[in-house]
Amino acid sequence: MKAIVNRIIPFSSVDGPGNRTAIFLQGCNINCKYCHNPETRRLCINCGACVGQCPAGALSLGEDNRVIWDQGACVQCDTCIHVCPNDSSPKVREMTPEEVYAAVKRQIPFIRGISVSGGECMLWPDFLKALFTLAKADGLGCLIDSNGTIPLWNYPELLEISDGVMLDIKAFDDTDHRRITDEGNGIVLKNAVFLAKHGKLEEVRAVIVPDLYDGEKSIRGIGTLLAPYRNIREIRIKLIAYRPMGVREAYSHYQVPSPECLTQLADILREMGFKDIVII
Ligand code: SF4
Ligand code: SF4
Repeated sequence: MKAIVNRIIPFSSVDGPGNRTAIFLQGCNINCKYCHNPETRRLCINCGACVGQCPAGALSLGEDNRVIWDQGACVQCDTCIHVCPNDSSPKVREMTPEEVYAAVKRQIPFIRGISVSGGECMLWPDFLKALFTLAKADGLGCLIDSNGTIPLWNYPELLEISDGVMLDIKAFDDTDHRRITDEGNGIVLKNAVFLAKHGKLEEVRAVIVPDLYDGEKSIRGIGTLLAPYRNIREIRIKLIAYRPMGVREAYSHYQVPSPECLTQLADILREMGFKDIVII
């Protein structure tokens, strides 16, 4: 069993509580206009467009016409990512859960757990279950970072072994969600309630983009939906300001929300009883 791994960050303080190793899997099933890691969206189709552009000679085409990445020669200039017409990256590795966990294990004295993100990591549920089984045996916490479009109630064993899900709710309104991601949010909202009811909703993440959708309407909707479940487990809500860094050029023109706008949204949630609100 293997997954395509885009990268492993040994120490991260922004991918869940405490210091964690963050693992990013390749491939996504939606198309967020403000995606900050667009090179994780698709699997490489071996078109070869990046190969001749590498200034370090770290890319080549194999006999089977597959792109080969020489990690030792790579100078991490990201030219390949910028020239890829497919929102992909040649700098990925097919890895087993055991291989990924070997990279995690080195950090054990210094980390509280692992978080798996993407792309959309729920496209690799069997891999997640195997990886989390290894991590749990060493006492590590295990969190899933998901866009919520895959029905999580279909994976009870994976959820049982996970400490929770950090769930994106890109917008509460279905039309807004479609504008942002090209997909509706029916399953996302069902997942939010399902996870909250079962004490598995670690946090909700909302990226605030004032000229893309109505943030206040969305935050009020999310708050109303989830407030009844706060007594099961306090739900952290993370309000994330849109920033253009890393975003595809066609979508990098959106307005960055003001600090006042974010504070106002946090106040709305506080009035609804939410206590753990983070603005980043
Ligand atoms: S980041 Fe890409 S283009 Fe740059 S050296 Fe590495 S493989 Fe080559
Ligand atoms: S990473 Fe992109 S440009 Fe390079 S071969 Fe794959 S699809 Fe083509």
